[in-house]
Amino acid sequence: MNTSSISQNAQRQDISSLISPELSVVVPVYNEVESLPHLIEAIATSLKEMAFSYEIVCVDDGSTDGSAELLKSLAQTRTDLRAVLLRRNYGQTPAMSAGFNYARGKVIITMDGDLQNDPADIPRLLAKLEEGYDLVSGWRKNRQDAALSRLLPSKIANWLIGRVTGVELHDYGCSLKAYRSELVADMNLYGELHRFLPALAFIEGARIAEMQVRHHARKFGRSKYGIWRTFRVVMDLLTVYFMKKFLTRPMHVFGLFGMVAIALGILLGCYLTFLKLALGQSIGDRPLLILAVVLLVTGVQLFSFGLLAELLMRTYHESQGRPIYRVREVVGENGNNSNKID
Ligand code: UDP
Ligand code: MG
Repeated sequence: MNTSSISQNAQRQDISSLISPELSVVVPVYNEVESLPHLIEAIATSLKEMAFSYEIVCVDDGSTDGSAELLKSLAQTRTDLRAVLLRRNYGQTPAMSAGFNYARGKVIITMDGDLQNDPADIPRLLAKLEEGYDLVSGWRKNRQDAALSRLLPSKIANWLIGRVTGVELHDYGCSLKAYRSELVADMNLYGELHRFLPALAFIEGARIAEMQVRHHARKFGRSKYGIWRTFRVVMDLLTVYFMKKFLTRPMHVFGLFGMVAIALGILLGCYLTFLKLALGQSIGDRPLLILAVVLLVTGVQLFSFGLLAELLMRTYHESQGRPIYRVREVVGENGNNSNKID
C-alpha cells in the first residue's frame, strides 16, 4: 500500500469514526491482563491498513486481576477501543452478548481475549464474508488445547450439534467468527448459547461458511473451563433442539396428545357405563376400567402441561428485552450509547 492510500485510509478512519465504525471486534475478557496489550496491538495492526473503520469492543466480565482498570485506561487514550465493564462475572456468553449490544459495526468479529485466536486471520474471514455469507465460522484445525479433556469432548459435541441442528461444522466452539450485525442484533444469549449461533442463525435462513484459522497455545493466564463445560453444552443443545421442534407452540404437541388420551378415556368410560347400566354386568374388576382412568388422568395432565409450557413460552418471549448482564461503566468513543437500555 502506498503512502497516499494510507493517508487516505487514515482520513477515512477519522471521518467515519464520527459516524460509526464499519467493523466491530468483540472480545469477552475475564482475567486476561497480560494478554490484553498484545491482543489490542495485534488487532490494530491487522486492521489499520484496511480500507474501513473499526472499533474494538472489549467486555470485561468482572475480572479480578486488573484487566478492567487496564482496559479503562487504554480506552481513554485509544480512539479505536471501547471498554464495556460488567458489574460482575456473568460468563463468556453474556459478555459476548453485551459486546453485540454495544458494537456499532455493520460486521462483527468475535474472538477470545487470550491470544489463542490470531487477529491476523481477520482479513481472511472478512473476505470470505464478502463472498456472500452472513456468518463465517473459524475452524481450529490444529487446536492447541489438552487432547483428552478438551479436544475429545469437543469432537463429540461438534458431531452431536451437527446432527441435531442440521448445521455441520467442524468447530462450533471456535470464538473467532465473522457475522453480519443484523444476524446478532436481537439475539439474547444465555448459558453456552453463543456457540450455537451458527445453528440459530441457520434457522433464521443465514448463509454459513467455515474456514480454517490459526490457533495458539495459551501464553498467559489459564483457561476458565474444564471438562464439565461439555455437560452444560449438551444441556443447551437439548434446549436448542426443543426450541426448534416443539417449543414454538408446545400446546400443539402436548395438547393434542392430552386431548386424544382424554377422548379415548371418555369413550372407554361410556362403554363401561353402558355395560353396567344397560346390560347389568359388573365392571369393577375389568382392566379396561384401569385403562380408562389412566387415560383420563394422563390426558388431563398432558393438557395442563401443554398449557403451562405455552405460558412459559410467552413469558420467555416477553422477557427477551431484558438484558442478562448489568453494565457498570462504558469507557471510550462516545461512552455509554448502547443499542439497548440496561
Ligand atoms: N471468558 C469470559 N468470562 C468467563 C470465562 C471466560 O469472558 O467467565 C472469556 C475469556 O477471558 C476468554 C474467552 O472467554 O477471552 C474464552 O475463555 P478461555 O480462553 O478460558 O476458554 P478456552 O479457550 O479454554 O475454551
Ligand atoms: Mg482460550
